[in-house]
Amino acid sequence: MPDQLANEIRATLAAARSQFEYLVDLGFAGQKIAAATGAETQNLQRVAAGSETLDTILNELGDCQRCGLGASRTKLVYGVGNPDARLVLVGEAPGREEDLQGEPFVGEAGKLLDRILQAMGMHRDEVYICNVLKCRPPNNRDPQPEEVSTCEAFLIRQLAAIRPQVIIGLGRFAVHSLLKTNAPISRLRGEWQSYQGIPLMPTYHPAYLLRNPEAKRDVWDDMKQVLRRLQTDVEDL
Ligand code: URA
Repeated sequence: MPDQLANEIRATLAAARSQFEYLVDLGFAGQKIAAATGAETQNLQRVAAGSETLDTILNELGDCQRCGLGASRTKLVYGVGNPDARLVLVGEAPGREEDLQGEPFVGEAGKLLDRILQAMGMHRDEVYICNVLKCRPPNNRDPQPEEVSTCEAFLIRQLAAIRPQVIIGLGRFAVHSLLKTNAPISRLRGEWQSYQGIPLMPTYHPAYLLRNPEAKRDVWDDMKQVLRRLQTDVEDL
């Protein structure tokens, strides 16, 4: 068999496996796939075909009232940046500024995140930035488990639509939600993890850095690992 054909078959099988794992992750296994109806089925078909775009997912979110946060938000904060980004950064939830502007990381923590990206030689337009929750919890309280479980299905789909080369998990909530672990962020940070086969680097949240500037050194070490990974992937092309 010609090498090119064998490579294409391998790539197709790998993509199918990853889509299947993704469906299982969403809880759509076995009987649940068979029992899905109507819109759910169409959704599953789009996911399985890998044909979802960020716009179709946003459309489906619509004027989301799936959890209680819909009633108190000003604007839903979906995500910003490049839909073909090689790097996605995932935070926790919108704060006051983000809720007003409808864009993630535009407050004080966001300004620090912009400076971190700048130090990496990047700009927020070329990466993609989003959160686990799309709506602001009142008074910036911690996200509740039912809010995370309702909203994270959309994050999972956003990540599947982008399929970046690297994900950065910003802080405890994002990392716990993506990796399904409760290990302390101080132990997780700086070590590569895997999310759906995509390398994920856990690091401290920029808001934590505002309160603990001495931790910036650790975050910079983590970002250097991310840069090395992105560089290696370019060389492998
Ligand atoms: N903190 C987050 O986790 N996300 C934002 O968008 C802003 C602050």
